Formats: sequence, structure tokens, C-alpha cells
Amino acid sequence: MLNIVIFGPPGAGKGTQSEKIIDKYNVVHISTGDLFRWHTKNDTPLGLKVKEIMNSGELVSDDITIAMLREEVEKNPQASGFLFDGFPRTVPQAEALDELMKSLGTEIHAVVELDVTEEEVRSRIAKRKELEGRADDADDKLERRIQEYFNKTIHVLPYYKHQNRLSTVNGIGAIENISASIAEVLNKHVS
Ligand code: ADP
Repeated sequence: MLNIVIFGPPGAGKGTQSEKIIDKYNVVHISTGDLFRWHTKNDTPLGLKVKEIMNSGELVSDDITIAMLREEVEKNPQASGFLFDGFPRTVPQAEALDELMKSLGTEIHAVVELDVTEEEVRSRIAKRKELEGRADDADDKLERRIQEYFNKTIHVLPYYKHQNRLSTVNGIGAIENISASIAEVLNKHVS
């Protein structure tokens, strides 16, 4: 199996690069942001539960997020690998993911961090807001998401660094160049 985590602040380009990775490596893409958006859009019981917190830009609780993630992984018993996008965002989530991988007899092979400055992130999201109109891209909520990243999510990096699984890739530049840098990291894990 090839199990990958793609990591970076809001607007780092995780979605764009994820599409390239799933095509190239044939892994199942699990984006917790997309899953939560699907639930809120369809007014599922889970969606109703998380709608308010999501729209405020805060993180959904670990319990809820981990349960949803686990269910998604278990729906794909035949997968030759996973790409986790937007997860883990806290150290308890990272620990839960390690446990889950272990229970499947596998592990996280690579964590790819897209390194993007805060300034770049703000300008990209301002553009996306005009194009897509995502509810949580409004200014005050965006501020909250950036804060959540720098207060909580950033602590996941030393966790993976300590495990020797972290690779940092420059997230600024042409999309193809960034994809090529990511491929260099991932190719080390495919035979
Ligand atoms: P971004 O573009 O900010 O990276 P996502 O699309 O990944 O955001 O997620 C949107 C929202 O969904 C987050 O602001 C948060 O409320 C919720 N969310 C997504 N993934 C997680 C997670 N792993 N833990 C907690 N909340 C999450």
C-alpha cells in the first residue's frame, strides 16, 4: 500500500495537487473538508451537527472527525492506498490515524507538506472567494481558519518529523513543478 498525507494551510493547493496524486498513484482520496461539505450540503445528521462550527472556520471536534474518517477508510477495503487531505489537523487525529493504519497492517508512508507563506495563502483565498463563494472563505472566517492552522494544526508537523516521515515541498510556483517535486518524494515509496 501507499498511504500519503498531504499537509498545508488553507489555500496551500492541497486539492489541486491531490487530484494529480490520485491519478498517478491510484490511491483513494479522502478529504475531510469535502466530506464535511457534502454532509452539510445534504443536511445529513452529521452535517447538521457540524454546520455551524464549520462555517465559523473552527475545527470540528476530534471525536466526530476521526469517526467519519475511519468509516471512509473502512468503506474501501480493496484500496491500494489512501491520500489523506485535510486530516490529521491535530495531534490526537494523527495518533488515531496511526492506530487505524496499524489495525490494517499498514502505516503512513509519506507526509507531504506544501510550504506556502501566509501572504500567498491570503491572496489565493481572496481569489477563490470570488470564483467559488465558499461560505467559510468570508474574511472573518478565513481569519479563524488561518488561526486554527497556526494554533492547532501546525503541531502535527513535529509529530511526523519525529517519525521521519515528513517531506516539505515548496508550494509556490507552477502547478506542474510542484507536482514534480511531490512525485520525487512519493516515488521513493513505490517499487
Ligand atoms: P481549508 O481549505 O481551510 O484547508 P478544508 O476544506 O480542508 O479547509 O476544511 C473545511 C472545514 O472543515 C474546516 O475549516 C473545518 O471546520 C472542517 N474540517 C475539515 N477537516 C477537519 C479535521 N481534520 N478536523 C477538524 N475539522 C475539520
